[in-house]
Amino acid sequence: MYKIDIEKVIEIVQKDKNDFDRDLIISSYEFAKEKHANQKRLSGDDYITHPLAVAGILAEMGLDETTIAAALLHDTIEDSDVTPEEIEKLFGSKIKDLVEGVTILGEIDFSKLPDQNIQEIKFQHEIENLRRFFLAMAKDVRVVIIKLADRLHNMRTLNFLAIADQKRISRETLEIFAPLADRLSMGQIKAELEDLAFRFSNPEDFKIIEGLVTKNERERKNYLAHINRIITNDLEEEAIKAKIDGRVKHLYSIYKKLNKVNNDFSKIYDLLAIRVVVNNIEECYKAMGIIHARFKPMIYLIKDYIAVPKPNGYQSLHTTVFGIKGKITEIQIRTIKMHEEAENGIAAHWHYNESKLNVYKKGVSSFAPQEKLGWVNKLANWQKNVSINTNLAEELQIDLFNDRIFVFSPKGNIFDLPEGATPIDFAYELHSAVGNRCRGAKVNGKIVNLNYQLNNRDVVEIVLAPKNDKTGPARDWLEHVKTAKAKQRIKNWYRQSNREENIEQGSKILLSDLRVFSLDGGDISEEVKKKILDETNWRSWDDLLSAIGDGTITAKQIIRKIVGQRLYDELEAKKETKNQTKTVEPEEKRLNLSGILVRYGECCKPKKGDKVKGYITQGQGVTIHKSNCHSLLTSSQDRIVEIDFDIPSKLRTRVEILGKNRVGLVRDIAALIARENIVIEDLKAYNSEKNVSFIDLSFSIENPDILTELLPKIGRIEGVQSVRKK
Ligand code: MN
Repeated sequence: MYKIDIEKVIEIVQKDKNDFDRDLIISSYEFAKEKHANQKRLSGDDYITHPLAVAGILAEMGLDETTIAAALLHDTIEDSDVTPEEIEKLFGSKIKDLVEGVTILGEIDFSKLPDQNIQEIKFQHEIENLRRFFLAMAKDVRVVIIKLADRLHNMRTLNFLAIADQKRISRETLEIFAPLADRLSMGQIKAELEDLAFRFSNPEDFKIIEGLVTKNERERKNYLAHINRIITNDLEEEAIKAKIDGRVKHLYSIYKKLNKVNNDFSKIYDLLAIRVVVNNIEECYKAMGIIHARFKPMIYLIKDYIAVPKPNGYQSLHTTVFGIKGKITEIQIRTIKMHEEAENGIAAHWHYNESKLNVYKKGVSSFAPQEKLGWVNKLANWQKNVSINTNLAEELQIDLFNDRIFVFSPKGNIFDLPEGATPIDFAYELHSAVGNRCRGAKVNGKIVNLNYQLNNRDVVEIVLAPKNDKTGPARDWLEHVKTAKAKQRIKNWYRQSNREENIEQGSKILLSDLRVFSLDGGDISEEVKKKILDETNWRSWDDLLSAIGDGTITAKQIIRKIVGQRLYDELEAKKETKNQTKTVEPEEKRLNLSGILVRYGECCKPKKGDKVKGYITQGQGVTIHKSNCHSLLTSSQDRIVEIDFDIPSKLRTRVEILGKNRVGLVRDIAALIARENIVIEDLKAYNSEKNVSFIDLSFSIENPDILTELLPKIGRIEGVQSVRKK
């Protein structure tokens, strides 16, 4: 394998820059060479060949001498006895920061990537966290660029490792490093990383694709040369100077495309890509017009990434045409600047050499600070909700994550939290059940308060309450948590716990009402439950019990469904009779009401203490009216009987409520009444066009005095305008 030496590195840097610190590069090299003196790569080469190769990759990309010096030194802290202080003393704080940054990134353990068998969304989330963590750990984007070049050289020499390591490292490369290169729009590194990782992780498929591509290679080269001549001539006629080259797309991208078209190789149109690099945007569109005049475009494959750049900032016009002899060919048209950015992404921003950018004379100059900032903004956009300090243009340091911290679980999983987050946030990040059972926390092995503010790289361990402990979160946690997730889940717990009370309450009400029918709650079979749920649209039996508990529905409505209407009526009649014997205790019985069904007149609503008379209905028992009720005057007098008894304590009451219609108004009223342990027996609600709700509800109360407290309470519910007893 070709091995680069320091003279070659300097030669590459020299091509770009006339004025650079040659001594810095030489002295870094000498220092690194000495420190790695007795070390070998697995290939058997001297260790220094590795930092040299990394420096070479970066020099090709046009990076500055600071980055190249740091690249030469990048493994000295990790692999020898060199300290950061020593590097700072010899090479300055900037280079120390870069080398130290690369060392920190090297400590990130990717050996435990999330399990591929977990849910796709979860997997992507965890992988994304790793990528973000990686970026966040690098304070200067050049640290990431060095690390990518480091990974590229390690991938190039991966064949010296054991197969298991090759697979593991390739997977890291595909999941972490190639996507990062893509995000930094470093297309060249991304493509090479992917192809190398593809080769080692999936050698069988790699060989197949390689075979498909190398077949007809000579023919393809001739074709590219031919179409290149035609396009060059056409453009020159219109006074457009262009640099055109053609290539086969990289293998991994073909492989991914093949998967998309069910492995039908004939469906991969853009195996060949021809790049047309022109001077300015105007010429891009003009060139596309000229090419389309010659070769018919496949209309649906024209993509304007100039007007609408890809998320990583990539710009170009893409068109797919029927080329010579109808051969399908993809053509990418872009400016020099776009080309630079597509190949080297952010690294292009260290490319200041005007002469190189001005190959074609016309006004393409180096990037202004403003444009550099544009790039950082793009990265920030990707990393959403992060504000950018405008001074960043100067150093291009990434401090995009200054409002985020990354902490670890004892198992080493990474969690991304907002600054100021506490162990409670962390616990809810793990799982809502962990949050609810969180009782204490250890940070880096030491017990801390639950309102302790976590720091970057803390290892956090949650101390849990026993599984059956139902205490749940404390309300004041809401003041200590930072994440919306934790807040939401604490509030949910409180809502849920009310629900549990409601279920319990509902279950009690149902049981006691069933008992009146001589039924037991346990008698309700699952089939019946299912049937009732189907009829009533409640999602679960618990939901139904909860609805009874909070008063949304009455137990009677359900019992009617359980026993059937007819049986219900019968039982209801019996029940009332039973009630009669129990609760009605006439002092002097002029008419013995024992065993007679008693109803109360809807007209006058007699209540406890009223003077009453009875009216014998046809086969329906006795209706009780106030003795002065006008309806008695118009009824057959022979049916009116004197009775003397106290009206039983339970009194049916009807209340009419007027309110402004809003979601949950009825529910809130019903819940309030349920909290007073009053069972709603009937509830009707309707809304007028003017958004006024009329709610009419009936319930039985022990004592009319209850109303004097209850009605004002209802009146205070949001939206209620008036409440009155009917
Ligand atoms: Mn290295």
